[in-house]
Amino acid sequence: MSVRPSDFPPPWSPLDAVAAPTDPADERIDVGFLVVGAGPAGLAAAIRLGQLMEEDPATAERLGEVPVAVLEKGKAPGSHLLSGAVVNPRGLQRLFKGRRRLDEMPFYGPVHGESVLFLTKRRAFRIPTPPTMVNRHNHVASVSRLGRWLAEEAESLGVTILPETSAERLLVDGGRVVGVRTGDRGRGRGGEELQNFEPGSDIAARVTILAEGTQGHLTGAALERFGLRGESPQVWALGVKEVWKVARPLEQVVHTMGWPLRPGARYREFGGSFIYPMGEDMVTIGMVVGLDYRDAELSVHDLLQELKTHPRVRRILEGGERVQWGAKTIPEGGFVALPKRFHAPGLLLCGDGVGLVNVPALKGIHYAVESGRLAAEAAWRTLSRGVSSRDALATYDESLRTSFVWSELREVRNMRQAFGRGFYLGGALAGAMTATKGRFPPGDSRTERDADQPLLRTDRAASYPAPDGQLVFDKLSSVFASGNRTRDDQPSHIRIQTRVPRELAELWTRMCPAQVYEVGEADGDGTVELKLAPSNCVQCGAITAKGGRLTPPEGGSGPEYTLT
Ligand SMILES: Cc1cc2nc3c(=O)[nH]c(=O)nc-3n(C[C@H](O)[C@H](O)[C@H](O)COP(=O)(O)OP(=O)(O)OC[C@H]3O[C@@H](n4cnc5c(N)ncnc54)[C@H](O)[C@@H]3O)c2cc1C
Ligand code: SF4
Repeated sequence: MSVRPSDFPPPWSPLDAVAAPTDPADERIDVGFLVVGAGPAGLAAAIRLGQLMEEDPATAERLGEVPVAVLEKGKAPGSHLLSGAVVNPRGLQRLFKGRRRLDEMPFYGPVHGESVLFLTKRRAFRIPTPPTMVNRHNHVASVSRLGRWLAEEAESLGVTILPETSAERLLVDGGRVVGVRTGDRGRGRGGEELQNFEPGSDIAARVTILAEGTQGHLTGAALERFGLRGESPQVWALGVKEVWKVARPLEQVVHTMGWPLRPGARYREFGGSFIYPMGEDMVTIGMVVGLDYRDAELSVHDLLQELKTHPRVRRILEGGERVQWGAKTIPEGGFVALPKRFHAPGLLLCGDGVGLVNVPALKGIHYAVESGRLAAEAAWRTLSRGVSSRDALATYDESLRTSFVWSELREVRNMRQAFGRGFYLGGALAGAMTATKGRFPPGDSRTERDADQPLLRTDRAASYPAPDGQLVFDKLSSVFASGNRTRDDQPSHIRIQTRVPRELAELWTRMCPAQVYEVGEADGDGTVELKLAPSNCVQCGAITAKGGRLTPPEGGSGPEYTLT
């Protein structure tokens, strides 16, 4: 019988991240509205709240000394943000209406041209751009840089941003979310208090907005605690990308399909690459692959290295130099995997945390921004006299369901699932779905959990190119290029079974782009010991999709992205 990652669940339950407040009232930190996550969703929520405070200072007075706070686990806003990123500006235009113009935002420029290539090992064939992938009127950005700019905008409107702060527990009291508890700092590997130990704190708020992005730690806990999970399980893809300084400008946005992925349905390898110009002298290149793949030897990190050896791609990078690297998962379940509700008492959920991503378009930034803005408006309504908090927060669901986010996601709801049937059949079905604007097929296709896919093994790893330190890199040099400087004597934040069948240990070892896992000693019973180096982790979240569990490490750990 084949091994399935879900047969070896982590020693962890999402409800471990839910707790009652413990700090005495006089030690608790009180804020008005609390946002968890300084990504596009969280910062859009904070900015909208700041705008509303500016418009109505008398009401803002009621929010106390810290009216809006944003917690961010990265070293600074932007440190943990990674995207393509070609941005549909619609969300940002609505957020900054009458306040900021597009040319004031930190974009590298509008998309001037684009091409979609189908690759074989040696050749590239240009194919018509599928309508879902057309990028006319969109702009190229680094989401890390965009995040820093949005954070400055938020601060200029009176928002307090607390970086290096992980929200570790969702505080629930009397069936209502009352805030979060932040993680301790300064613990040793065994959990002991070191000299610089600082305990976490309870932060209480009238409304908590979770905008944690992919694999949200508290979002998962909230979905479980309040019974909000949707009909289909969430599924993810892993994206690995590099930023290059190049000798010649790239004129176009390029997407590729086909090689180095295999088309056969039995492999379930769905994905492709993106190559975007970042101004005149930089290019970003990334590979995205669905985590429902089955081959234990598949490594998205190494597929990206292989992609760069293609003659067409190599030409773009020739004479250039890699300046940054990173990895992150993308929720791909789409419409069928959305939660039943996006609010609970005292709580609102937005962005990638709840899966607001358009997979065929590879876009989520404008949905994150729009959902953050709508969440902020619902939170603000709790301040209206005569309206109950419950009714005010319920307006968030209503406005999300009537927004462009909802109608667009509904149209493409079955596309990702179609590719589980192989590249060619999936492509044909996706074409029919596009032509009928989602009316065909009429129902909803369900998703299957990534960790439920039985593993198979081919000799895939034998054809990954050997690192040369110039074009092709190994994982450890990639971790270095992510800016990760995590203290390696802190407790492990990865929850995983460490004695497992060899196939599973190899899957995790190959899958992790940051070389956190290593296959150790074999036992007589066919299992092996899994060894961990958690400080390498760039918090991409793939392990949670494929059978383990990522929890937030000490605040300030992880990558320090600036250009991703
Ligand atoms: C490889 C790749 C390519 C993509 N390409 C595109 C593209 O070209 N265009 C596009 O529109 N979209 C693209 N996307 C999707 C897009 O990046 C996301 O939809 C978008 O970033 C989601 O924004 P968010 O604010 O919801 O989450 P995020 O951007 O993930 O931000 C969440 C923030 O919350 C912080 N956080 C999380 N948990 C906690 C916690 N417990 N405590 C404190 N802080 C916490 C994180 O550190 C992070 O800073 C791509 C994604 C990937 C991975
Ligand atoms: S250990 Fe960290 S870097 Fe590796 S797969 Fe898991 S989350 Fe990603």
